[in-house]
Amino acid sequence: MIRARTRSPGETREMAAALAELAQPRDLLLLVGDLGAGKTTFAQGFAAGLGIAKQVTSPTFTLASEYRGRLLLNHLDVFRFEQIAEVFDLDLYELLDGHGVTLIEWGDAIRQTLPADYLEAALIFSDDEHLAPDERVVVLTPVGSRWQSRQDALAAAVDPWAEDSSPRKKPSV
Ligand code: ADP
Ligand code: MG
Repeated sequence: MIRARTRSPGETREMAAALAELAQPRDLLLLVGDLGAGKTTFAQGFAAGLGIAKQVTSPTFTLASEYRGRLLLNHLDVFRFEQIAEVFDLDLYELLDGHGVTLIEWGDAIRQTLPADYLEAALIFSDDEHLAPDERVVVLTPVGSRWQSRQDALAAAVDPWAEDSSPRKKPSV
């Protein structure tokens, strides 16, 4: 488990872009967190990190959006699914078998139907954590060998946003 902290939407995008540089074909990421936590913001930065110029929007009403960059990006949001069975309408397994990277917002809702080989990125905003309105704690949990083998690289990628880092360590973009 790797913890980081961002202090603005821009920082969340930059951090996600840094993670995207580690992405490989057939990677799966579950984006977890309450409404407004920053899952779509993370997806936007991740897409930018893959060299996708097109604006990434919430896929809530389109089920899945596809973007072309260094790798193909499949962006899904399963928030509105009332039944896990609906996921099968998406050809989810075809997506996961393809050459792209798949990001699933609210992915924890369908965790038991997914291969146990993914990176979970949980975005947390909560009074309990004593966070300012624009602060988020980001907890990265690699599940399975694909991402566990990249644990050191993951830690290095988010090091500028490590929870205990001073602001001046961050890239000034
Ligand atoms: P979700 O997809 O999880 O529902 P969004 O990414 O759509 O969330 O929205 C997150 C909202 O929180 C945006 O309005 C964004 O500008 C704001 N925000 C404030 N601080 C941050 C931060 N540190 N990281 C991400 N989003 C933030
Ligand atoms: Mg969203």
